This record gives sequence, structure tokens and C-alpha cells, in this order.
Amino acid sequence: MADPSSPIREEIRSIAPYNAGLTLEEVRANHHVEKVAKLGSNENPLGPSPALRRQFPDIGELARLYPDPQGRALCTRLAGSFDVGSDQVILGNGSEDLIAVICRSVVRPGDTVATLYPSFPLHEDYTALMGGKVDRVTVAPDLTVDMKTLLAAISRKPRMLMFSNPMNPVGSWLTPDQLAQLIAGLDPETLIVVDEAYAEYAAGDDYPSAAEMLKATGLNWVVLRTFSKAYGLAGLRIGYGIVSDGSLCGFFNRARTPFNTNAIAQAAALTALDDVGHLNRSVELAIVERERMKKELTTMGYRIAPSRCNFLFIDARTDASGLAGALLRQGVIVKPWKQPGFETYIRVSIGSPVENDHFIEAFQKVEAAG
Ligand SMILES: *Cc1c(COP(=O)(O)O)cnc(C)c1O
Repeated sequence: MADPSSPIREEIRSIAPYNAGLTLEEVRANHHVEKVAKLGSNENPLGPSPALRRQFPDIGELARLYPDPQGRALCTRLAGSFDVGSDQVILGNGSEDLIAVICRSVVRPGDTVATLYPSFPLHEDYTALMGGKVDRVTVAPDLTVDMKTLLAAISRKPRMLMFSNPMNPVGSWLTPDQLAQLIAGLDPETLIVVDEAYAEYAAGDDYPSAAEMLKATGLNWVVLRTFSKAYGLAGLRIGYGIVSDGSLCGFFNRARTPFNTNAIAQAAALTALDDVGHLNRSVELAIVERERMKKELTTMGYRIAPSRCNFLFIDARTDASGLAGALLRQGVIVKPWKQPGFETYIRVSIGSPVENDHFIEAFQKVEAAG
């Protein structure tokens, strides 16, 4: 019998399956709990804009026809808000699709891709898939970005620097000054990809729009954004990239599947952009609840990373997988971090007030049971 793994590239065999988290149904069925707080995937407790429920009473034509493969209406709209050409916008089936597209387009065997660490696993996985090597820039002891190590990493002229700002899973971020320092140190041969999945939560003083800062530099760059987080559309799978120039964007377009974003997702994204009130409510809820959770956890004696996101990265001072299992039995889903050096950390999404209370109570119970 043929070995089923024999046709598969070594790079794929060495990647761990993506830890996509648990569904409500799995937790209810396996742990016999009624109420579940789903706080493992950074979703939005308010969900999408109410306008969306009114938008799809009749889904017929959207479902029947192939979508616009370029997603022109959405790209034009996004190009307007970033003040770039619409040929500089690329849509993805989630921004994770675009991470894969970029790595496929750029990373040759043996290339180095630098990233902040602990990292968003897909930044590393798609690099490895293409035969690239990852250069990890570990956070400083206070869990903020270690600029000295980051500048040293880019001075080695990696093929690509790809990281999220703010960082997932940590929540800390590069300030405008730090991003300026980084840009000044980049080699023109290095592609910089800034994954801004949490930009809507982070916006404000002391957080830079990478696209604005990169525009005049003459570097090759991509900024990734998503509708999965603050816009509450994780289930529809739509994200986008803003690219330094139209021809570079054109190459990325060749490396994606032609109809990678569906018609409903494209239409829903446009509706979501129109409802600024809902976006603001989502962001405000996350910030108010994040600060409340942070206070409670700090009072309990835990060390928490600075966060501009809709999640907290907590040093639980115990094996995080064991803790996550105990929380599951109380009906709470969190993400135990499994990357080396951070095995005592959990990442907890900021949910609704009820879900957040559920987490705090469960955490206290588990802690008391020791
Ligand atoms: C959630 C997340 C994504 C994935 O977003 P999708 O658009 O849902 O694929 C990408 N990057 C980071 C850093 C994220 O946290």
C-alpha cells in the first residue's frame, strides 16, 4: 500500500494542525454544561450590525451567481478610506487567506521571515510551508515589543518581516515612534507585512496606522485588515490587504483562487462599513469590559500583558493546557498558549458582560480547587 504521506512535501508534514478552537456544540456535548462562555477565538459578542439581518431576506441572486472575482465595489470603497488606488486592494477569504497568498508569492526555500514572538501561528506556518525559516523576536520581559532585538533581526535583511500590530496573542503594540524606527532600519529588499487584525480596537493615541506611515517610504509593504473581529463577521470569512503598489498587488492576485471571497461576504462587508455606530459600540464594549476584567485579574494577583485588543494574555503561573481543561468543565473556552516559553499563558477573549463574569467565576473556582 502506498504511504499516504509520501506525496506530501516535508514542509507540510512538519506543520502542526491549526488549533482552531472548540465549538459551542462540542463543549456542551463533551463537558455536559448548559451555559458556555466562548472566549477562545476573539469573536465579537454583539455579532454583526442589525442592518445585516434586514439585508438578506432574499438571498437568491447573491447565491446563484458567481461573485465579482475582484470584489470591485468593496475594493473601491476600501481604497477610498485608505486613500490608495483600488488596484492596491486585495480581498481574502479571511485575512488568513492573504497570509497564505503572500507567503506563496514571496517565500523561497531557505528564506528568512522575521516575526514578533509569541506569534500568530499562521505567520510562521505558511512560512514553513514554503520552506522558509522563521526568525522569532521574543517580547521583552514586560511583554512589550523588544525594539533592540527587532532592529537586529531586520538588519540581517530577511526576505519578509510579518507581524501583527497589536500583537496576537500578547496584545501589546508598536507605537508610532517604534514603527518609524523600524521603517528607518528596513532594507529595501525586505517586504514588510503588518497584520492589523485588531486595528479598530487599538485606534487612538499612540497607535500608528501602518499604511499611513509606509506610504511615502518607497518600500514594498502590505497592511492586512479583517472583518472578523471588530465588525463581527468571523463566520463569513472576509479580510483585505492594502498593498504599496498596484503591480505588487497584481502578483498577489495571481496567487489566490479567482473567487476566493463570496458574494454574501462582499455585500456584508460593505454594509458593515456603513454602520459606524455598531463598530463603535463593539469597540467600546470590548474596551470597557477589558479594563474591568484586567482589574479583577490584577486583584487576583495575576500578571497581564498590556492590551489594545479584545483579549487579554494572562500568565496563569500553571500549565495552561490543564487550566484550560478545568475551565472547559465549567463551560468556558479560552486558548491555552502552546508556544515554547509561554506554556503558562492563556489568551482570553473579551466577551459579553455575562460571559466575562462566567469566566471570572470559573477561574476563581478552579484556582480555589488548586
Ligand atoms: C484573527 C486574526 C487573523 C485572521 O483573521 P481572518 O480574517 O478571520 O482570517 C489574522 N491575523 C491575526 C493577527 C488575527 O488575530
